[in-house]
Amino acid sequence: MQIFHPTTVDEVIGLLAAHDEARCLAGGQTLVAMLNLGLLDPPALISLRKVAGLDRLIRHADGGVTMGATVTQAALAAADLPGALAVLGEAAQQVAHPAIRNFGTVGGALCHADPAADLPPAFVAADARMTAIGPDGERSLSAGDFFVDYLTTALADGEILTEIRLPPPPPGSVGAYLKFARVDGDYATVSVAVTMTLENGVCRAARIALGSCAARPLRLDAADAALADTGLDADSVARAGALLQEAADPLADMRGTADYRRRIVPGLVARAIGAARAKAEAPA
Ligand SMILES: Cc1cc2nc3c(=O)[nH]c(=O)nc-3n(C[C@H](O)[C@H](O)[C@H](O)COP(=O)(O)OP(=O)(O)OC[C@H]3O[C@@H](n4cnc5c(N)ncnc54)[C@H](O)[C@@H]3O)c2cc1C
Repeated sequence: MQIFHPTTVDEVIGLLAAHDEARCLAGGQTLVAMLNLGLLDPPALISLRKVAGLDRLIRHADGGVTMGATVTQAALAAADLPGALAVLGEAAQQVAHPAIRNFGTVGGALCHADPAADLPPAFVAADARMTAIGPDGERSLSAGDFFVDYLTTALADGEILTEIRLPPPPPGSVGAYLKFARVDGDYATVSVAVTMTLENGVCRAARIALGSCAARPLRLDAADAALADTGLDADSVARAGALLQEAADPLADMRGTADYRRRIVPGLVARAIGAARAKAEAPA
């Protein structure tokens, strides 16, 4: 197996075109384990580590953020992003342990598209846009469209994720990420990412995305709509949770049966909404 260390995105795209079945190597926290287990045997690895600019997290004057694909999960966890974007930092803080987060990248976690991973639902709740570059140029996809199926993204052959763009969080927006896991540092049995915009206690808009409840992050327009223009009263919150519970189609694995996971949903949704709301009510 050959290992390449390109320094530009163009070089990466050229190498992917020249080596069928080659894989990008980001933090290696998932890919190297898969190689070690013999689950993959690519002819070439293309390291993204030296690619200029991919490790930058840029805060724009309007509050928006652009994050390169090789920003580490530790850097995102420490970024202290404002308003609704706090959901991203909270999710990153709950990925595994510091040793994993120091190497693991945001782009690697998103491209691996594990339904139990922490970052995918958070980026869906934050309404992120993903930039993909390949032999046919650049395109932008919503996070909702990026995750297609179990371990499957919308990236085409020869394309890579280069950056993620986050819209400026509206005034009054808040975000929270809660994970229910067997032990600290484990993948989620169920997770809930929520962003909301509140105006004098009234929820003007909400986006909820669940992890570990389907083959990709689960979002439902009807659940978000159940919270809009309400004071987040108990009935509205319960309605959003019930709709998500009904739509959940979780896998069964050693972290829980499908039924167990479904039963967790309404309570965890309510707690995540409560955690986000508490931030809006906290004294500045
Ligand atoms: C012990 C352990 C515990 C873990 N616990 C958790 C957890 O609790 N929660 C959680 O969310 N994750 C967890 N993880 C996974 C961890 O977050 C990984 O870091 C992450 O899944 C992959 O990121 P990476 O940068 O290491 O990517 P890599 O392992 O290098 O790559 C992963 C995949 O993405 C592809 N890829 C990487 N970057 C790009 C790109 N820019 N464009 C296109 N394709 C790309 C690679 O080719 C590969 O297929 C755990 C991992 C370990 C080893």
